Amino acid sequence: MHELSIAHSLIETVEAALTDKPDLRVTAVNLQLGVLSGVEADSLRFCFDIATADTRLVGAKLVIETVPARAFCPVCDRDVSPAAPHWYRCPECGGSCGKLSAGRDLQIASVEVLDPNEETIDEAPLA
Ligand SMILES: [Zn+2]
Repeated sequence: MHELSIAHSLIETVEAALTDKPDLRVTAVNLQLGVLSGVEADSLRFCFDIATADTRLVGAKLVIETVPARAFCPVCDRDVSPAAPHWYRCPECGGSCGKLSAGRDLQIASVEVLDPNEETIDEAPLA
């Protein structure tokens, strides 16, 4: 299952980033998901809940922010947001756009962690 292996790799990424902070509890993972990533948000959320069960991310919420497609239209001379089903056509003028500059994203924007010693919730960028 595609989404399940993605869920596992998200968990691995977070665990790797927090190896030196074993006390922190992860409460949420904020993910940016492009509309063209081919990943179904509901399915990924479901798989994430299963995959986190026996990891330190247990109980963490997967918060998915959908990233719209973006491409540069040479006619309009600016970035536009193509939409289904014309991913390579400008929605303003109908001209053809080049490469999409966004829309295939699948990346963790940040994680929210709880420090049980201080009982505070922090938002940490994961880069
Ligand atoms: Zn245009």
